Amino acid sequence: MTATTPSHATTSSTGAVIEHLPLARLTTLGVGGISEVWTVNNHAQLHEAMQAPYRVLGGGSNLVVSDQGVRERVIRLKGDFATTDLSPTAESTPDQLITGWVGGGVPLPGLLRRLREAGLSNLEGTAGVPAQVGGAVWMNAGTRYGEMFDGLHRLEIASPGGVQQVLASELPWGYRHSAIPRGHIVTRVQLKLRYSTPAEVAEHMNSADLARKGQPKMKTPGCAFKNPGGASAGKLIDEAGLKGTRIGGAMISPDHANFIVNVGDATAADVHALLNLIRDRVGTDMELEYELWP
Ligand SMILES: Cc1cc2nc3c(=O)[nH]c(=O)nc-3n(C[C@H](O)[C@H](O)[C@H](O)COP(=O)(O)OP(=O)(O)OC[C@H]3O[C@@H](n4cnc5c(N)ncnc54)[C@H](O)[C@@H]3O)c2cc1C
Repeated sequence: MTATTPSHATTSSTGAVIEHLPLARLTTLGVGGISEVWTVNNHAQLHEAMQAPYRVLGGGSNLVVSDQGVRERVIRLKGDFATTDLSPTAESTPDQLITGWVGGGVPLPGLLRRLREAGLSNLEGTAGVPAQVGGAVWMNAGTRYGEMFDGLHRLEIASPGGVQQVLASELPWGYRHSAIPRGHIVTRVQLKLRYSTPAEVAEHMNSADLARKGQPKMKTPGCAFKNPGGASAGKLIDEAGLKGTRIGGAMISPDHANFIVNVGDATAADVHALLNLIRDRVGTDMELEYELWP
């Protein structure tokens, strides 16, 4: 243990910080049991962390983690993977800024604030998504106003086999989907941005934000179910009379039925019980929007 590591933390041979933490602290829903968390600051530490079964955690904004936690190491990106270099590279043109590297562990809301202040456009459609850059890239997060792919130029991706760089345009991208295999980690990206003005960028971001007006401001992992075949999942759950239903500390939001919120002391078991109730009442073909760990 070193003087700078938090109490109960140890360090790996390359200096990654290893702690046993409740994942409830690292997810927006605020549920999840104790797991072995590896905080890595550089490629050497990341490579070491990937030598045993692992999962990668971003902003924890799309996850329901089991009350027992997970068996695998949970990798968190910090240090070199949490820096932002928006300066123009030689690939830039008068119309297009190709930035330096932006870490996969950078919180997306903070990045968007900087882009707004600098009047740099292309990622406004992701306003309000509480992700880290890597997590948002991995699932091509976005709204009807735009998605991560709109502002991506190059990706750096790590796997147990090594690190590779790939142009975003060489990969297929889909609706809330990328072709990046599970277990491959988006460590850094270069952005492709258009020169605009702070006022114009702010206006576009406000439009994406306004679309969230009815969403609850409580602990939640976002929308529970995908909209089935063009129908609104929230409307179907509302019509089944489930708005406001509570099991333990989890509740179907009275504001928006497609959101399950933690009203104080929810467990993953409470959330699963509500998800099952919705499937029973609305239809078992309802497809989950968020990810269950394990
Ligand atoms: C209030 C609220 C509103 C939301 N609104 C939207 C929305 O409008 N649009 C939208 O698309 N989503 C939305 N979401 C869902 C969520 O923010 C997105 O799915 C987001 O992309 C998850 O990113 P994350 O960094 O939090 O990933 P996590 O939740 O931590 O992880 C999700 C998945 O990404 C993987 N992952 C994380 N980091 C990396 C990485 N560096 N490299 C590779 N894989 C990685 C994880 O292993 C996991 O499989 C919302 C969520 C909340 C709570």
